[in-house]
Amino acid sequence: MNQCPVCRKYICEKDKGLCHKCGWDINYYANGMTRFEELRFKKKLNIARRNWKILVSSVLEKRALKKQLDLS
Ligand SMILES: [Zn+2]
Repeated sequence: MNQCPVCRKYICEKDKGLCHKCGWDINYYANGMTRFEELRFKKKLNIARRNWKILVSSVLEKRALKKQLDLS
């Protein structure tokens, strides 16, 4: 079983293609890469991880905000 490098979701063999949680292309990760492709890949991965973090934190923020509103 593989793990998504962006959102850490576990991915089954049959799920090959895109991560169902964050949309990361898993095939990209599994294939062999040249030096140039590897650099591009790392850059892309960093951006995807950063975007994912922002997305998750905004969801958590909204949830916390809703809780506050429900309590008041
Ligand atoms: Zn993912």
